[in-house]
Amino acid sequence: MPCLTNIGTLVTCPPEGGQGDLGAVRGAAMVWEGDTITWLGPRADLPREADQREGASGNGPSYDCGGRLVIPGLVDCHTHLAFGGWRADEFAARSAGTGYPEIAARGGGIASTVRATRAMSRQELADRAGGFLQGMVRLGITAVECKSGYGLSVEHELRTLRAYRDLSGSGAPRLVPTCLAGHMVPAEYAGDRQGYIRLVTEEILPAVAREGLASFCDAFLEPGPGLDAAETTAVLEAGHRHGMVAKLHADQLTDGGGARLAASLGAISADHLERVSDEGIEAMAEAGTIAVVLPIAGVYLNCPPPPVRRMVEAGVQVAVATDFNPGSAPSYHLPLALTLACVKMGMSPAEAVRGATTVAARACGLEEVSGSLAPGRPADFAVIDAPDVDSWLYHFKEGTCAATVIGGVTVAGQLPGSQ
Ligand SMILES: [Zn+2]
Repeated sequence: MPCLTNIGTLVTCPPEGGQGDLGAVRGAAMVWEGDTITWLGPRADLPREADQREGASGNGPSYDCGGRLVIPGLVDCHTHLAFGGWRADEFAARSAGTGYPEIAARGGGIASTVRATRAMSRQELADRAGGFLQGMVRLGITAVECKSGYGLSVEHELRTLRAYRDLSGSGAPRLVPTCLAGHMVPAEYAGDRQGYIRLVTEEILPAVAREGLASFCDAFLEPGPGLDAAETTAVLEAGHRHGMVAKLHADQLTDGGGARLAASLGAISADHLERVSDEGIEAMAEAGTIAVVLPIAGVYLNCPPPPVRRMVEAGVQVAVATDFNPGSAPSYHLPLALTLACVKMGMSPAEAVRGATTVAARACGLEEVSGSLAPGRPADFAVIDAPDVDSWLYHFKEGTCAATVIGGVTVAGQLPGSQ
């Protein structure tokens, strides 16, 4: 049984607990067998059969963490992982003061990513997304929610979701696919919005369900670039009829009542929430809807931060994710998102880490396998070159993740100090 000893801080993130409850053990050890954790706790309590010091009998390698931090593998519960092209030209234009409506009127914005994504084959989509996943694993990420939504036709939505299925397997993070056919109305339906909503509800979602390609159904509630409330409701209710749990891009650019709508539709999460109202927060607390905040997108779009403190006080669980996409969040650096959640949103480092582990796992249906470390759970963890969570998120620097392990297999870096 492999054994990790001399862990400076072992963050376990127990499923039960408040937003800041890390379940931290100082001076810890952890043992796993195959893909499953068998023991963890203070180093001094390590069972003799797992202890390899001084010739004690054991049957697996022992790794000396040198006082480093060990955390549950990070969960990025909101990404748009597979897409064509980038939009650096828009970044430059926005930096020079050009607004999104003008960019969209020139054929830019989400529509340009739709064109570039449709031009890619399933293999090309999988290869490119697979490259991003390798980068994510090197940051300590072991599970990723990934949305479609740049296809917006039966053929192209299925192509993206099939590419995600192709990527699932050993060595890759655990993937949770979401159908985001309700991202926007594509150009060819500009004069027939209802026609597109019918396509989503009567053709795309049933086809996705037939192949079992998505666990969740998502929509972008934002009159203008996205869908209105009636269109959003039609899409998410159709997803529900086909066995997909609702998620919702809500209250990002305007307070469109998205949080309340997400709560009333039984959505597992409402994401963004920069403009959420107090009534929206109350409705989420009552329904148990998880808030997913996306600080990288907030920085790129220069949005006011969502009222995380009011959410936590109201009893809403808050997850932190990247929103990785080629427009508003061209970075999959989840640890950066955690640092920004502290700086811009008033989260403590402990609250942010729980938001990218336990709460994030719950927001994408992975609470049984990801987000917490305990005997009997999968050995999905990361060794971080810092003594504790505060030090980790305080220093934003390269190469902080020393090793990432998924199901007992080291998939990035290497476990330190093999004895
Ligand atoms: Zn998004």
